[in-house]
Amino acid sequence: MNSEDNLSPEDRAFRDEVRAFLDEKFDAELRAQTERQAGVFAEDSVARRWHRALHSRGWSAPSWPAEYGGPGWTARQREIFAMECARVGTPSLPSMGITLCGPVIMRYGTPEQKAYFLPRMLSGEHVWAQGYSEPQSGSDLSSLQTRAVRDGDDYVVNGTKIWTTNAHNADWIFMLVRTSTEGKQQAGISFLVSPMNAPGITVRPILSTSGEHELNQLFFDNLSVPVANRMGAENEGWTVAKYLLEFERGGGSLGVGLRVGLEKVKAMAAKEPSGHGGSLLEDRAFRRKAALLDIDMMTADWTDLHLSSGAGVGESVGGTAASIKKLLASHKSQDVAELAVEVLGAYAMPDQRRALGAFPQEGPIGPAYAITPTTRHINNRASTVYGGSSEVQHNILARLLGL
Ligand SMILES: Cc1cc2nc3c(=O)[nH]c(=O)nc-3n(C[C@H](O)[C@H](O)[C@H](O)COP(=O)(O)OP(=O)(O)OC[C@H]3O[C@@H](n4cnc5c(N)ncnc54)[C@H](O)[C@@H]3O)c2cc1C
Repeated sequence: MNSEDNLSPEDRAFRDEVRAFLDEKFDAELRAQTERQAGVFAEDSVARRWHRALHSRGWSAPSWPAEYGGPGWTARQREIFAMECARVGTPSLPSMGITLCGPVIMRYGTPEQKAYFLPRMLSGEHVWAQGYSEPQSGSDLSSLQTRAVRDGDDYVVNGTKIWTTNAHNADWIFMLVRTSTEGKQQAGISFLVSPMNAPGITVRPILSTSGEHELNQLFFDNLSVPVANRMGAENEGWTVAKYLLEFERGGGSLGVGLRVGLEKVKAMAAKEPSGHGGSLLEDRAFRRKAALLDIDMMTADWTDLHLSSGAGVGESVGGTAASIKKLLASHKSQDVAELAVEVLGAYAMPDQRRALGAFPQEGPIGPAYAITPTTRHINNRASTVYGGSSEVQHNILARLLGL
């Protein structure tokens, strides 16, 4: 599936076109800025610049159908594109717009909502945040308390959201609110969207263990949201919310980033001494670990191929497949991140925060490749929590299997 030898002449030509684009647009400055980043998404200015470059070529939403501005690629072309981007390490763009909210608008949006939001997502003019979790509602999401009360053509929203990734850079937020307290807790939820600069939203930063600012708590104080900004029917937002989660857990190509990540770890191992002559890459114990991970990656790739083969462009893989993909992606990426720290040995210890990021204050301690792995490893511990924890995914699968 992923071997270069298997490329048809058309796919090879496509790959060369992608490479030429990346050579031109992913310039040395962007490359250096991106290499030093360890957060889940690239810094805002870097992400927006890269999004614009992709958009100028019509490539900002590979997963979207052509009718909404997607490039109309085949599944193979989408994989080649993802592979080439991972190979050179292009900036990781916030996924809440194109990957998560876009498909929701395509399915549940009115013609007016589609016409307004989708082109602005595509161009990168609107960066989005996800307002699902609350201090008392994470895994048990449908217990959420943020209240929206109808007042004429508006809802008046009061409450709080937490762990809101990138909200400090976002232009818009989609959020789950309680519009009714009658019946089952899932029954009284609605899905609203609001500009982040609307009066009544306060953003409080939360610093991660790694010291980075990616997360926030939001407070809504009489925030006014037009009824026209609701996706789907009132009190039926839980269905919309679950549909979005299928893209959060099951969107994207599972194996591509992992395989490239592992190759980068091996490249580091080739430069690090084993401690008993030769490089770490020649060390039997390391080779064994890397080989086991290689096998895992191959298995993950084939599983992804199997699970995703039924879904057309712009479609979800479905809830079961999404949970399996989420489990595989998060656990395997943690394994790769951990191996990178192991390879670095003593260079994994220093505090590299001043050397990190697009605009660092200092140079690295040790080799340049030592800057990011420890912070990435720390940040990546959260991947088995965000988007729904591993325990929750196991529960979903157990229920589906009737266990
Ligand atoms: C880095 C990061 C980024 C995030 N970004 C966003 C964002 O942008 N927007 C957003 O809305 N949310 C975001 N979240 C929130 C995330 O979705 C929640 O943290 C997650 O759903 C877990 O909820 P919780 O933190 O309330 O933990 P809890 O639900 O309190 O869970 C605590 C522990 O108990 C376990 N547990 C809970 N219920 C069960 C059960 N029934 N069976 C077995 N075990 C269970 C969990 O697996 C977990 O280990 C983010 C979280 C992190 C860490």
